[in-house]
Amino acid sequence: MERPPVIHKTAADFRLPPHWTDYQGGRSAFSWDAARGGLRGLPGGGLNIGFEAVDRHAETALRDQTALHFVARNSPAVDLSYGELARQTNRFANVLQGLGVGKGDRLFVLAGRIPELYLAVLGALKNGTVVTPLFSAFGPEPIAKRIQLGAGQVLVTTDSLYRRKVKLWRQQMPTLRHVLLVAEDGGISNEPDTLDWATLMAAAPDTFTTVPTQPDDPALLHFTSGTTGTPKGALHVHGAVVTHYATGRYALDLHPQDRYWCTADPGWVTGTSYGIIAPLLQGVNSLIDREEFDAQRWYTLLEQEGITVWYTAPTAIRMLMKAGVALADQHRWPALRFVASVGEPLNPEAVWWGKEVLGLPIHDNWWQTETGGIMIANTPAFDIKPGSMGRPLPGIEACIVEHLEAEDEPPRVRVIDRPDVEGELALKAGWPSMFRGYLNNEARYRKCFAGDLYLTGDLARVDADGYYWFVGRADDVIKSAGHLIGPFEVESVLMEHPAVAEAGVIGKPDPMVGEVVKAFVSLKDGYAPGEALRLDIMAHARKRLGAAVAPKEIAFLPTLPRTRSGKIMRRLLKARELGLPEGDTSTLEGGA
Ligand code: ATP
Ligand code: MG
Repeated sequence: MERPPVIHKTAADFRLPPHWTDYQGGRSAFSWDAARGGLRGLPGGGLNIGFEAVDRHAETALRDQTALHFVARNSPAVDLSYGELARQTNRFANVLQGLGVGKGDRLFVLAGRIPELYLAVLGALKNGTVVTPLFSAFGPEPIAKRIQLGAGQVLVTTDSLYRRKVKLWRQQMPTLRHVLLVAEDGGISNEPDTLDWATLMAAAPDTFTTVPTQPDDPALLHFTSGTTGTPKGALHVHGAVVTHYATGRYALDLHPQDRYWCTADPGWVTGTSYGIIAPLLQGVNSLIDREEFDAQRWYTLLEQEGITVWYTAPTAIRMLMKAGVALADQHRWPALRFVASVGEPLNPEAVWWGKEVLGLPIHDNWWQTETGGIMIANTPAFDIKPGSMGRPLPGIEACIVEHLEAEDEPPRVRVIDRPDVEGELALKAGWPSMFRGYLNNEARYRKCFAGDLYLTGDLARVDADGYYWFVGRADDVIKSAGHLIGPFEVESVLMEHPAVAEAGVIGKPDPMVGEVVKAFVSLKDGYAPGEALRLDIMAHARKRLGAAVAPKEIAFLPTLPRTRSGKIMRRLLKARELGLPEGDTSTLEGGA
């Protein structure tokens, strides 16, 4: 279906006056120093993420308001108010002090989305301890490897995860001094060589003075998603809280009265920056669903919990689209006022689905583990061009660059100052949540910078209105008969076909043209693979893209391989197609 290129905002998009309405004016008026003024700072000087997220509110009228609202299928909801969150995180910080764990020491958390995970993360931050949350679905190898790499001294996990995934591998983690176990039955755990969370927490005082951390002190270590190769450990500092705060206002438009739901797991940077820190900084009430994706459940939660701001990912949106409109039609979301997505390019089809099914367009935004927070976004301040990831936020200067010499070290680049030319997306270094290093890989870190520009590794273009358009990851771009083809463009066109639920596109080596475009698609419920359908999809792609860019081959898969953060792993599609080794699959969803 042909659709207009711009979605103009209507009154329905502004149920609350947004924090930001004038794009240029908001950017000119912004400074990071002024943004920091919205925070409090530690009483004796310094800046600490945990203090700003929790303690700052615990002395205000927010004290008795719900900060985190946990729901699960088979257990009652649990609410933690800002005041309670302050007391419980104080307890945990005292537990760490009692164990001799202090500033700069490293703590890992391995758990589902249980309250204790949130207490451990925030309590450790208040103690100046560096935190790494891991996906609870990781297998023993990825867990051991990350704790080894990060020289973790403390692990917080549950008794059952410990027995299944850590106990037998503990000798591989010699730096681990303490393992704290949360008993899943709510009782007391008594595994040898571990400590019981509940016993320690009950004995710890509930007052604590936040350890004086400075903006440049390390706070969080996040592993990247492993979409393009072995995950990298990106180190972040307490000063990042200024970005978390500013982006919560300008990209997600959070207001204290919001009921907010970020569907990302804290094992991924989105689930920490925007599932824990940013909403607390804005004093909102966050929903945390402990269950995995389920279309019916998600629609019901959006409705019954009265969610107003929803931050999710393309993969989830595609799964909702796949489940069909009939299911959506059983629900109404009158409270919902702002929807955003991150993690992968958001196909225009998905933006429109939001408008037609949820009643609101979906606001795509772009960032990376390395950037620590949202950098480029569709926001309330301007209209949406479906397929574009939006415009740089206040305080962020983006540009498109070309490399002078492909393999130069350090890299040398030239800014492309004409619109609509593809090149590497770069950001002017210096925003507060910029990563400060890759764990044990200084050389790799240095390769990310050309002068004062941070090179993202993503290809994009910027149009004359300043909107950025994702082309593909530098590694995924296909070179075919002299054309450079971005997989996103091809995938988006395939997604327009009524039968296609998801598409992943790769370049397949070819002696004649360099690479040919091959597409892998999974189908919507109610469609079955077959030759006629394959030809029909192929014809649709040719008509929209032309023969040079349209896929030459289309294969059907029940689902596409993706990371636990929901990204299609094109490198795996390619390795499998070519019979090559699969490489690091530690983050593969459904993998070990
Ligand atoms: P690895 O670096 O280990 O290969 P990763 O890059 O997928 O993994 P993340 O930091 O979780 O790890 O993801 C950031 C990347 O995700 C971006 O560099 C970009 O390629 C992609 N991405 C995120 N948001 C968007 C978006 N809105 N549009 C297009 N791509 C996006
Ligand atoms: Mg990356």
